[in-house]
Amino acid sequence: MSPDTIILSPHFDDAVLSCWHVLAGPGEALVVNVFAGEPPAGTLGWWDRLAGASDSAAAVQARIQEDRQALALAGRTAINLPFLDSQYHQSDQAPEEIVEALRGVLGALLVESAQIYAPATLGDQHRDHTAVRAAALALHAEGAKVMLYADLPHATVAGWPQWVLEESSAETDRAGEQWAMQLEATGVPVERMVATTHRLPAAVHASKVEAVLTYRSQIAPLQESFGASLEDLQLLGLEVDWRLPQT
Ligand SMILES: [Zn+2]
Repeated sequence: MSPDTIILSPHFDDAVLSCWHVLAGPGEALVVNVFAGEPPAGTLGWWDRLAGASDSAAAVQARIQEDRQALALAGRTAINLPFLDSQYHQSDQAPEEIVEALRGVLGALLVESAQIYAPATLGDQHRDHTAVRAAALALHAEGAKVMLYADLPHATVAGWPQWVLEESSAETDRAGEQWAMQLEATGVPVERMVATTHRLPAAVHASKVEAVLTYRSQIAPLQESFGASLEDLQLLGLEVDWRLPQT
């Protein structure tokens, strides 16, 4: 196995929600779901409760199946790491442990050849995304090629920045300011990052929506939390990433 691209997906659906242009594009892409561990029987996390589950162990098993089906639509597969989603525990996940686990499954690929995609952790900044970003930044410091992606739909809780929409208005660009501040927190100067906006063509957007809706258990809680239909072009029709400078 020697993928050109490794997409670090904190949860089962993040790669599909945010990096469909990569999954649907050419080349060998592999997804690594980081917080894919099964909690002990009898656990019920808040997000799973919102999704209508009664047992989180069963919910994770169902999400693994949904993920397999969704990724298969793009001819892709995933590796699942055993870290527990933050809804199942209080403390933050140490990024060093994520780096070690990634080394264990991917070895030299990580730093020597593959292009790594990791969440930029924008908008409401989910703490599991923050931990994965920190792991990717640690690999970047060792020389890995890293791209950060706008993690949808979290990233747009304040809307899209004006530069993404190619609009300018007299109003304050709240989303733009928020993204700039949050990217600055990576320690990599924003002016050295190369941003690209991907406007998904209609057919690609349609295939993305089909894949997103394959995560059946997640449709209701995502739509409820982010206040928009997953089919809304404004929500998932654009994808943005940043190439970090090589160290
Ligand atoms: Zn996530």
